[in-house]
Amino acid sequence: MARGYTIGIDLGGTNIKGGVCDAEYRLVAQEEIETQADRGPDHVIARMAGLVATLISKAGLSAADIAGVGVGAPGPMSHSAGMIYHAPNLPGFVNVPLRDRMAELTRLPVTLENDANAAAFGEFAAGAGKDVRDMVMLTLGTGIGGGVVLGGQLWRGAFDNAGELGHTIVVPGGRPCPCGQKGCLERYASAHAVAERVREAVQAGEPSSLRAKALAGDDFDARDVLAAQAAGDALARRIWDEACFHLALAAVNIQHSFNPELVVFAGGLIRAGEVLLGRVRAHFEALSWTIAPDRPRLALATLGTDAGTIGAAALARS
Ligand SMILES: [Zn+2]
Repeated sequence: MARGYTIGIDLGGTNIKGGVCDAEYRLVAQEEIETQADRGPDHVIARMAGLVATLISKAGLSAADIAGVGVGAPGPMSHSAGMIYHAPNLPGFVNVPLRDRMAELTRLPVTLENDANAAAFGEFAAGAGKDVRDMVMLTLGTGIGGGVVLGGQLWRGAFDNAGELGHTIVVPGGRPCPCGQKGCLERYASAHAVAERVREAVQAGEPSSLRAKALAGDDFDARDVLAAQAAGDALARRIWDEACFHLALAAVNIQHSFNPELVVFAGGLIRAGEVLLGRVRAHFEALSWTIAPDRPRLALATLGTDAGTIGAAALARS
C-alpha cells in the first residue's frame, strides 16, 4: 500500500526510540539507539535520519510507502515553526529548526511535537483513549507532562504550549518550581516530588522507616515511598496520599476546563496501579461538584513507553 505507513520518533536525552506504524497505529517495526546528546544537534539529527532509514528497511518497506515522520521532542518548542527553542536535556539544542533539517535529510514530510503531547496522542490513537473523542493525559515522571485531545485533535493553543498541566498551580505560594512559579502540580505529584518531599520531611526531623535511605541520597525514589506506605510508614502514607489528592484536584480542574470523557495517568508512577488510581478516584469523588453528572473516567495508560513513538507516528498522519 503506497504511503500507508508513518514513522514516529521519540527523542530523549539518553535514547532515541523509533517505530513504523500502519494505518491502524500498529507498530510493524521498532528500533532504539543512543542519543549521544553530548555530540550536539547536528549529530543527533543525523542519527534520527539514520534511524528513519533503518526502520524503513527493517519493516521491509521503501520511502515511497511512508506518508511522513513525526518527531516527539522535549521543549519548549514551536510546532508551527518546527523549532526547538530550548531542550535542557539536549546540549546545544537552542533555537534548532529540527523539522526542516530532518525533512532535508530524510526527503520526507516531518512534523515536530512536544513529547508529552505526542505520548498523549498515542494513548488517544491506540491506547487507553482509543474509544473516546475528548481526553486529557498527565504523565507522572521526573516532572508532569500533559496533553489535551479535544474532538479528536491535539489542542496546542495560541502559543503551542497548551497542556502544560504540570505547571498548573495547586498550592498558592507553594513549593518553588524551576519554571519560575510556586506551587505547581509537578512539585507535589511527580515521581521526583514524592521522593523529594519525603527526604525534606526526614531532614526536618519527621520520623520514618525511610530515614537512612532518604538521607543517603541518589538511589532513593518514589518506589521506596510506595513500598514504605504499603508497610504502614506514616510519613510515606501522608506524602503518597497528598500526591493522590493533588492529582485529584488537577482532575477536577481538568473536568471543568475541558469536560473530557477520560483523564489518563501515565509515566513511572502508574506502576503503583490501584494504589495510585484508587486513591486519586476517592479524592476526586469527594472533591468534584455534585450539581451535574459530567464526571470523566479516570484510567491508567496502556501503551507504556511506546506511547510517544506511536503518538508521533499518528501525528505524522493527521
Ligand atoms: Zn512549574
